[in-house]
Order: sequence, then structure tokens, then C-alpha cells
Amino acid sequence: MATRKNQNPKAGMTKNLLKDPEKQEARIASKILKKDDDESTIKRDAFVKIEKKVKASLKKQDTDDALTSISVWALFLGSSDVHYDNWEKVVKVRFRIDGILVDIFDLDKKDYKKLLERLKYASEVKLNITDVPQDGKYEFLIDSKKIDVRISTLPTKYGENIVCRLLDGSDKSLSFEDLWFFWTSQRMVNRSINSNMGMILVTGPTGSWKTTTLYTILSHINKRSKKIMTLEDPIEYNMEWIIQSEIDEKKWYHFADGLRAMLRQDPDIIMVGEIRDLDTLQTATSAALTWHLVLSTLHTKSAAETLDRIISMGLQPYILSWALETIIAQRLIRRICPYCKKEKEVTKEEESVIKLMMRNTWMKEFLADHIKLYTGKWCAKCNGTGYKGRIGIYEIINMDDDIRELIKTGWSPEEVVKIARKNGMILMKEDGVLKALWGHTTIQEVLRVV
Ligand SMILES: [Zn+2]
Repeated sequence: MATRKNQNPKAGMTKNLLKDPEKQEARIASKILKKDDDESTIKRDAFVKIEKKVKASLKKQDTDDALTSISVWALFLGSSDVHYDNWEKVVKVRFRIDGILVDIFDLDKKDYKKLLERLKYASEVKLNITDVPQDGKYEFLIDSKKIDVRISTLPTKYGENIVCRLLDGSDKSLSFEDLWFFWTSQRMVNRSINSNMGMILVTGPTGSWKTTTLYTILSHINKRSKKIMTLEDPIEYNMEWIIQSEIDEKKWYHFADGLRAMLRQDPDIIMVGEIRDLDTLQTATSAALTWHLVLSTLHTKSAAETLDRIISMGLQPYILSWALETIIAQRLIRRICPYCKKEKEVTKEEESVIKLMMRNTWMKEFLADHIKLYTGKWCAKCNGTGYKGRIGIYEIINMDDDIRELIKTGWSPEEVVKIARKNGMILMKEDGVLKALWGHTTIQEVLRVV
């Protein structure tokens, strides 16, 4: 049997690891994240209060009061969704707070049944159907403020789960300051807003505030001399001077035919909540090519990947290259609690991961001796997490002649990024590092999200 005496594959691997900055970055990142994995187990005072209040209401058979308490507390803690998850013996009530699912308390199955039936009744879904998913909606008032709730049910092995999405349509700030664009990014967004035609796409996972970005852009072009129309599922904010329409799949009112109908209403600017299929994509791009500014969202990970996704949906590259104006890819990261923020000591690992992450930017020289990091120090305002609220990190590509040419002739994401950098583009992870250095977030949080 032949043996390969002179080759030691392991030695080769280590050598490659040291040479390849990409792998080096990933290795240090996973080390830093491992140290940071202890936070979800903390039992917080607020959760005990919610549990007591809800269980007291249920004891008095007051399910409305119990549900109101849950919703009010969820909103107070900055939560977007309330989950009721069936386990074998209990039902877990969980809130998604700043993007992270947190266990609040357990309900016994009998109490849960009361809440479930009340929720199903309120949102007008069929009470007697428990073996297929259903969705519905209801609204309630807190201090005369209207809160919309979207519910969806799902039969599971241990019972019917329910998730409530809370849509707090009022009081949203729609200023660019609150989107936290880096100045080069802001400049790129301004440029695309000022064009009268073309397509602006905001991409990212569910719940990354893509619609907030679109609404903020719309509110900056909201002029009465323009007809602005939106097609949404659901309408998340109510805006003056904008004509908003909500699709209704149950009544066969879809994005694609809604969009065609909207174009017959002679609009200047159109926002389509989401592009889910080729039909919508083709209608939206032909609108963008015929003197309309079209804004929409798509589920993709990065700006460069978005191009791949659109082509794989079936659009011709030359149409894409003409129609597309700007891609804004975004994620949310948790913001350090401003009430307990303090400067922290920078570890060797943090320093090297920052330098590796910023190695391709023009800012790398400035960073070398300038690394300052901050952390949240557990306080009552942030329920002991050190974080309060979230901010966006972005990467933005503005189309120019070079990128349009590249799209027509075939591209790789690396090539696109290389050209886009000349126009001021920074990657999401680089935007995140900058935000950590300015004290808005932590490196751990940036690594967790990107
Ligand atoms: Zn705090």
C-alpha cells in the first residue's frame, strides 16, 4: 500500500488558515462569540411581574385583561412579537425583544386554552378548526393609541401554537438620523431619491425594518405635486398624502395584479411591499423603466447577492441593468443601553478581528491606534441585558455605468463589490464595526448578526 510520507495535510491546513484573512477572521469571531453566550438564562424582574399579573387575571376568568397585560408589557419591553409555544406539559410565552426570543413565563395548558380561544375569537378565525394553520387580525387601544395585531396559528405535536405580531403604527420617527446611515451611505440614498425613475430595492431578512427604510425614503420625497401610492401586506404606518392599499390574498388581491391596477391610476412613485414572484418583478421593472420611481423589498442576504436572486427569478439581465437604481441591504443590531454604557478594555482578540474586518476599507489606517469599545453595564432600564433598542447596519450599491455593464455581461459578487467600493460602498460588517467604534453597539453584536 502506498503511503504519502512527506505530506502532512494538517500542517498544510494551519498554514492556509494563517494566510487566509477570511478564515482568520472567522476563527477569532467564533472565539469571541463563544465567550458571550450566557445571556438568555437571566431571570428578570419584569418577567415575574408579567406572570403574576396575567395569572391573577386568569384566576378571575378575565382573559381580556390577561391578554391586554401581555400586549402592554410586550410593547413596553420593545417587543414586536408574542409567541405561545406548546411544549409537552406547558406553554411557553415568549417575546421577541430587539430581535432575540426571550422566555417570559410558562402557562399551564388549561389557562392557555382560554387565551387561545379568546385570541382566535377576537381575530375572527374559526374556533373549531385546530388542525390547519389560520391567520387573522384584530386591534385594540392603549391610551387611545391603536395597536394592530396579526395572529397566525399552527398545529404542532403538542397543540396549537399562536404567534401575535404587534404593529404599533403611530409615533414612528421617519428621519434619516434614526436609520443611522454612514455618511457615504446617506449620500448614495439621497442620489437615488432624487432620480425620477428606476427601482430602489431594500433587502434583508424578515423583521429587519426594511419597510421602515422605505417609509423614511417616501417621507422625504412626499410632495403634493407627486402621486405616491403603496401596495402593502399589511399597511404598517399611516401616512398623509400617500395613497395606501392593502392586498388581500383571501380575496385574490395579490401584489402583481394590484400593481397593474395601480399603474392605471397614473402614479409617480410606487412602493410595493414585497417582490415575491416573477410576475410582480416584471411589472415593477417595466414601471421603473417607464418614468416611475419604484421602491420594494426582497429577502436576500447581501446587496451583491440580490442581483443573483433577481436573475434566478427569471428577469433578463439587460432589463435589470436598466431598471435598477439602488440596492440597500440591511440588518438590525442591538444598541448599547445609553443608561449604563461605559468604555471597556479592548481584548487582543477584539483588536485583531476589527483590523481583519476593516482590512479592505479606506478607513483601515485611521483605525490602527484608535480602537475604543463600549459595553452596557446591566441596569433596570435595559432589564439587565446591557442593550436597549436596535439600529441598522447597511450596505448600499448605487448603479453606475460600470456595474450596469457588468450585469449585462455577467458578474461575480466580488467584482460588483469592487466597483461599488469606488462609489463609497461599505459592507454591512464594516458599517457594524464603525458603529461599535462609535459606541453604539458591541463587536459581539456585530459578529452575531453578520
Ligand atoms: Zn442599561
